[in-house]
Amino acid sequence: MKIIALGSGHGGIIEGQYVTPGKRYYGLHGGKQIQLAEGAFNRYVLYGVIAQLHLRGVKVANITPEDEDISLRARVMRVNALCRKYGKNNVYYMSIHHNSFTSDSVFGTEIFTSLGETGSDPIAEFIGERFVKRFGKTNFRMNNVNSKEYSKDANYQVLRNTYCRASLMEWGFMSNTYDRTRIIDKTQDEVIFLTDVLEEIYQME
Ligand SMILES: [Zn+2]
Repeated sequence: MKIIALGSGHGGIIEGQYVTPGKRYYGLHGGKQIQLAEGAFNRYVLYGVIAQLHLRGVKVANITPEDEDISLRARVMRVNALCRKYGKNNVYYMSIHHNSFTSDSVFGTEIFTSLGETGSDPIAEFIGERFVKRFGKTNFRMNNVNSKEYSKDANYQVLRNTYCRASLMEWGFMSNTYDRTRIIDKTQDEVIFLTDVLEEIYQME
């Protein structure tokens, strides 16, 4: 690749207000009432990874440099502008998210690619393999426990309409007690893992 394009899902915090409706966890964590804003944590990870990649000499572009919740269409346009500039085979795009569900029981990291088999699939498989090697299979949410496929297909606009190879990562469920600890108290694990895999992806043809 010639450049890594990174985006964080949703908006951030502007003057104390989380600008995106929903996409948060309200509740107890470590005995305290908290509000976990997904878009703010997406940005926390995004900026950490950008700083670390830059330190390692990896060329990286921030697709969502603002805290406003910009449209999916605008995100796609920004990625595709990089595809035109660098060539679509030379850009890798990742969108960073943290998940949520109505029940506490669902947990685990997930990686999504666009529908069907594309060049994005082998890279997502690579990320999944690296993840399981570092954090173990129980922290990864597979389609089927016996499946070798780490990546899941989803018809997300930012994956469907971007020209380059791409993935969307959901690091864990804010609604699950164990994953919430991974998100809030072990954010650096996520930053370093993503830095390591994205550095390797940057070296790929
Ligand atoms: Zn999200």
